[in-house]
Amino acid sequence: MESVRGVENSMKEKILKGFGVVVLIFALLFVSVLVILKLMGGREKGEAKIIVTNFVAYDFARAVTDDKKEVAMLVKPGTETHTFEPTPEDIIKIKNADLFIYNGGESDEWVKGLLSDNDIPAEKTMRMMDYVGLLEEEVVEGMEAEEEEDVARPEGYEEYDEHIWTSPVNAAKIVDGVRAKLSEIRTGKKLVYKENAEKYIAQINEIHAEISEVVKNANRKELIFADRFPFRYLVNEYGLSYFAAFPGCSDQTEASSATVAFLINKVKTDDIKIVLKIELSSEQLAKMVASETGAEVMVLNAAHNISQSDFDKGVTYVDIMRENVKVLERALE
Ligand SMILES: [Zn+2]
Repeated sequence: MESVRGVENSMKEKILKGFGVVVLIFALLFVSVLVILKLMGGREKGEAKIIVTNFVAYDFARAVTDDKKEVAMLVKPGTETHTFEPTPEDIIKIKNADLFIYNGGESDEWVKGLLSDNDIPAEKTMRMMDYVGLLEEEVVEGMEAEEEEDVARPEGYEEYDEHIWTSPVNAAKIVDGVRAKLSEIRTGKKLVYKENAEKYIAQINEIHAEISEVVKNANRKELIFADRFPFRYLVNEYGLSYFAAFPGCSDQTEASSATVAFLINKVKTDDIKIVLKIELSSEQLAKMVASETGAEVMVLNAAHNISQSDFDKGVTYVDIMRENVKVLERALE
C-alpha cells in the first residue's frame, strides 16, 4: 500500500507540474501577443496617419487624400502658429505617422532636433520649403526692424521667409509635392492621389489666373499693411510693391511713432483707399492709420491658421485665397 500511495503521489506531482508549465506557456504567449500588438503601431483605431504642423499642410494633405480623417494638424485651429511647441503626445503622433509634413523656417525650428533625436527617417518626412524657390525676409522703408542684439539665432539659422504658400504658384508646387511623397509611401493609391491633386491644383491655378488679371487691370501696384507682412511670396509673384509696419514673422506689435507717421504719410501721398491687416491680429494700428487718413481697413488672409468654426466647416486654402482676390481687387483699384 505504501508503495502504491507513493506512486500516486509522484503522479499527482507530475500532473501538477505539467499543468503549471502549460499555464506558464499560455501566460507567456498572452504577454507576447500584447507586446507584438503594441509594437505593430500602438495606434488607436481611426487615428490619423499623416501628421502636419500648420493649416496649409493640413489643407494640401486633405486635398490629396480626399480624407480629412487621415490628416491631423498639430497647431490647434485659431491659435498663434509662430510660437507653437509640440506636446509629448504630439511627438508620439509624429513618431507613429506614415508621413510628417512641416513647413520649415523660423516657426518650425523645433522640428530639426526632434527628427534626429527620434531617428525619424527622411522618407517619412516632408519639408514644404524644399519644394519652392526661397526668398529672404526683407526690411523695407518705414518698417520696424527687429533689434538684432536681443535675438539669439541658433546655428544654421536661415533668414528665409517661411510664408511660401502665400503665392498660389508655390501652393500648386507643394500640393504636387505632397502627391509625390504620399504616392511613394502608398503606391497602391498613386492614381487616386494623382486625380485628387490635379483637381485641387486646377482650383489653385484659377486663383493664380484671377490675381494675375486683377493686377493687370489695377490702377496701382502698391499695398500698405498697418501690420506684419507675411506676403513676400505673393507680391514677388505678381510684381507688387508694399509698405508695412513689421516684417513677416516679427513678434513686435508696438509700432514706433516714426513707423505710424511713415504709414500715414504714405497712405495720404499715394492716395491709398484700403489699409490692410492680416488674419487673427490686432486691428489697433490699422484703425489708427485709417482714422487719420480716411482709408478703409480690410483683411488680407495669410492662412497661417483658421478659426475653429471655419475649420469645422471645412474652409480650404482656396476658399481663403478666393476672398483675398476680392480684397486685392479693392486695394489695387
Ligand atoms: Zn508668419
